[in-house]
Order: sequence, then C-alpha cells, then structure tokens
Amino acid sequence: MPLNHLEKFRDLREKNAVLIKEAKEGGRKVVGIYCTYCPRELVLAAGAIPVSLCGTREAPIAHAERELPRNLCPLIKSSYGFALTDTCPFFHFSDLVIGETTCDGKKKMFERLHRLKEVHVMNLPNSADTAASLTLWHGEMIRLKSRLEAFLRVSITEEKLREAIHLVNEEKRALKDLYDLNRRKPALLSGLDMMMASFQAGFHVDRREVIRMIDGLVAEIRDAAAKGHIAGGEKTPRVLLTGTPIGMGSEKVIEIVESLGALVVAMENCGGYKTVDLRIDESDPRDPLLLLAEKYLRIPCSVMSPNRGRLELLDRMVDDFRIDSVIDLTWQACHTYNIESFDVSTLVKEKRGLPFIQIETDYSQADRETLRVRLEAFVEMMEEGHRGNCGH
Ligand code: SF4
Ligand code: SF4
Repeated sequence: MPLNHLEKFRDLREKNAVLIKEAKEGGRKVVGIYCTYCPRELVLAAGAIPVSLCGTREAPIAHAERELPRNLCPLIKSSYGFALTDTCPFFHFSDLVIGETTCDGKKKMFERLHRLKEVHVMNLPNSADTAASLTLWHGEMIRLKSRLEAFLRVSITEEKLREAIHLVNEEKRALKDLYDLNRRKPALLSGLDMMMASFQAGFHVDRREVIRMIDGLVAEIRDAAAKGHIAGGEKTPRVLLTGTPIGMGSEKVIEIVESLGALVVAMENCGGYKTVDLRIDESDPRDPLLLLAEKYLRIPCSVMSPNRGRLELLDRMVDDFRIDSVIDLTWQACHTYNIESFDVSTLVKEKRGLPFIQIETDYSQADRETLRVRLEAFVEMMEEGHRGNCGH
C-alpha cells in the first residue's frame, strides 16, 4: 500500500537544492554542518539555514583520493570529494561550514577544507564525563555564537536561542514518534523507508515544515496500520542496526538484509535513534549555551572515551524494539567504531544471547556479493532461532 506522505520525502533533497538557491537569492544565509555534535540550535537562532554536508555517496571519492589517503573512512572522503568537485549544491551555497574535532580523519580533513570554504572548527573534548570537558565545550558554544554573530552580522538573543531549542526538540520528538512505530510487532516501516525519510528530512530548508511532514507520515502509517498495513510479518526477523552513520547512497547493508527477508526495525546510529532522546528541558532557566553543551556531550558516539552510553542505549533498544539480532556497521578505517565492536558483540552475544555480526565495508559495490552471502547465513541463523522458539 503506497504511503502518500512517504513519497513526499523521496525528492526532498533535489527540491530543496532549488529552494536553497532561492533562499540565498532572497538574502538568507546557509551554514553547512557535518556532524551530530554541531549545535543546530545556534545556527537556527542566527536566522541561517543549517544543511547537512555529510557525504554518503561513492561518486566523489576518487577525486578526494587525489589529496586524501585511500585508507580513510569513505564518509570523510565522500564529504571532501563533494567539496572539492563542487558537486553538492548544499556545500556550494554554504556561507560557512562548521566542523568538530571528532575523529582524527575528520579533523585533519577540516584543515584542508579551509582552502575551499570559510570553516569554523569546534574543539570537542575526548571525554564527556569530566567537569573540565563541560567547561571546554561550553566555551566552544560561546565561541561559535560569537563567530556566527560576527560572520552573519546578527545578534543571537536568548529568546531566539530558546525558540530554536524548542524547534530542535520538536523535530527530535517527531523523529522519535516515527522510529517508535516499529516497537510494534509486526513492524510498520522498513529500514530502507525509515532511513530514506529521516535522511531526506535533513535537507529541508524549513524545519517547521519538515516537522509537519514527519507528523503527517506518522499519522498516515498509524491509519494504514489500523487497516492492516504492516511492513513485516509476525515471524520476520527483527534487526537492530548500529555503528557508523548511513544515508542514501550508502545503504547497501540495509538493502541486502531486507532483500533476504529480515527487517531493520531500528537504527541506533547517527540519523537514527542515537539522539532522539537528547532533548533539552525547556523549563530549565540556566544559560541556554550551557544547556546545549550538556545536551551535545551526552551523544553516545564512539569518538568519546569512554562511551558507555552507546551500550546502555543498545541494551534498551533490544528490549524496546523486540530485537532478534544486531548488525554493527563499520566504515573501513573508522578505528573508533571498529574497536567498540568488540564491546557491542559482547553485549549482544553474551549478555543478550542474540546473533551478532560486524560488517566492515565502504561505499563501493565491489563486495556486494560477499556481503550477501554472509548476511544470508546470518538471516538463516535468525530464522532457525525463530523456528526453535516456536518449537518446530
Ligand atoms: S558518528 Fe559521531 S562523529 Fe560521526 S556524525 Fe555521528 S556524532 Fe559525529
Ligand atoms: S565513520 Fe568513523 S572515521 Fe568516519 S567520520 Fe565517523 S567517526 Fe570518523
């Protein structure tokens, strides 16, 4: 059963490439962002349009490899390749881009990006747990606010910042409502559709409109479910995807596993569930920049040491989404997620007693057949588990 609201998400990136050009011509400023750690609230409070520049496609990687080492994470090479070739309209129209000192590859890439665009890099602490980390990160919020005010010639008032906090909270609430549809069994939305909708939503120039779109989609899926529309069956194996970020163009693992009859019912990674619960208490009267610093330090990303929050979140999601198995996706040369995979596998296999597989790959299609063979065996193992549970 086609979902009208879902179809509206499919060409959002292309439509918004046109809208962003018009917005620029109308005098709006555009700020490109690369990572979930970027406080979008500050960009919105500055009256600028935040756009995601995270590269998810293979096409520009060969260009990036002229300057960057080949054995670097594809996400970094793709992002840099789009900038180098000027083939991403969102990078093209960005007045300023914001980076963070997350992993080594990204922070060194931002050094090269300075030659192509005005770049502001935030110094992210390595650990989220100490008072010194919060002081540093709060200071970085203050520094970003000053930079945005000076560069965009605007004043970011407390009132505007609190409005932006509300808007981002609302967007996270809407996304959580969407993802939570799949707590139901059978699930209501495939992993591919869920990823497509959330990825495309990131390109909308109007955050209020995109919240309405997500709410409309959730309402439509609930209606369809009441009429019997479901994405999987009672026995469809339910997969939790974790690991590195994923988007349109880098979705091959979801595509393969779903073509084999399983369903990715939840995604823990960036763009998925990782941040939907990180909402700021709007009644908290403290300095909003401090509230932003506290919020963003709670992101359970592998660049933090230690990163206990990710394991806690995964443990919770296994219950909430009635998960049968976990796939941990690691982009090649992403050391932080690669190393954490051991702890994730211990949690999934030993504590939760569930099948686990780590997939290390890149954006190319060269290993597609090998992946298919490995994932086929993995899905069969889940199906056997189901049959075992049913006493067959
Ligand atoms: S995985 Fe970590 S470094 Fe990568 S986008 Fe997400 S928060 Fe940023
Ligand atoms: S996937 Fe890993 S290596 Fe790539 S940008 Fe994110 S943290 Fe860095």
